[in-house]
Amino acid sequence: MKMRAWILNEPSPVSDRPLTMAELPVPTPSADQLLLRVAVCGICRTDLHVVEGELPVHRSPLIPGHQIVGRVAGMGSRVEGFAIGDRVGVAWLNRTCGVCEFCLGGRENLCEQAMFTGWTVDGGFAEFAVGPAAFTYRLPDTFDDIQAAPLLCAGIIGYRCLRLTGLSLEDWRGARLGLYGFGAAGHVCIQLARARGAEVYVCTRDRERHQALARELGATWVGDAKDEPPIKLDASIIFAPAGELVPVALRAIRKGGTVVLGGIHMSPIPAFDYSLIYGERVVRSVANNTREDGREFLLEAASTPVQTHTQAFSFDQANEALIALKNDSIRGAGVLVMH
Ligand SMILES: [Zn+2]
Ligand SMILES: [Zn+2]
Repeated sequence: MKMRAWILNEPSPVSDRPLTMAELPVPTPSADQLLLRVAVCGICRTDLHVVEGELPVHRSPLIPGHQIVGRVAGMGSRVEGFAIGDRVGVAWLNRTCGVCEFCLGGRENLCEQAMFTGWTVDGGFAEFAVGPAAFTYRLPDTFDDIQAAPLLCAGIIGYRCLRLTGLSLEDWRGARLGLYGFGAAGHVCIQLARARGAEVYVCTRDRERHQALARELGATWVGDAKDEPPIKLDASIIFAPAGELVPVALRAIRKGGTVVLGGIHMSPIPAFDYSLIYGERVVRSVANNTREDGREFLLEAASTPVQTHTQAFSFDQANEALIALKNDSIRGAGVLVMH
């Protein structure tokens, strides 16, 4: 059986429309994998980094896409607990080794041998995809397919970023959180933070869409990317891949506060004066997520409940969707819809 899939042969700027449509055999699930008929696949900034070559090439040609919502259409001989037709999600963390010090220590997100959907293995910009059953998520019924897609990366990563701010659950009431960049992850993150009782300060360059959405979702204050919020913040998350925002965010944070870098790629961070980080301020990155992050997040997203704002693109528009993401012209999260 054949399927239609978008493939990347060689990274290049999205303005060159680097994805090409191909007809490929439907993949056969290995013993521990599910075969999914893909319903939708979210579009994430990481896809942009893969397609444009900011991340190294691990597989060529490659089917990108790592926020896959689909129905089980087949499975390997060792899979248990799934039935044909079940709705599941496949996310960025595709597989880990299970035996390295990180996997054994509860930090599988740092696994040395980890595989990543739509980067080191084929992803979901296709009519079918495979993924290990142990790394797929059941999706809460409160979200339809399109609403669920951005939860699978933007949502889970945003959740882990919130965790790594160092604020404990009881600290959130009245806490002041800064968000730099307000795309797919930011718009989910603000909803969790607000539901936990925090004030959220949003710095983003796009007035028309991102700043407006931030206001709509209850931001206490909204400014331009480099504007200084009117009050010192307890913690901040930088989602924009712009290293020059690190000193900007440090300047806006109180002593002992943490700046979390949420992206997989960032432009170089300029040198800054020691006084900006003195006072026990912390800068730390977030790398991937554990499955526990994913499960906890999906529960919290359903109970909050998070409302994802999405812009649907038809399957044929994968290149256009990536161009729109690059131009910051998507309000909320972009999603490719297969049929
Ligand atoms: Zn490992
Ligand atoms: Zn992603």
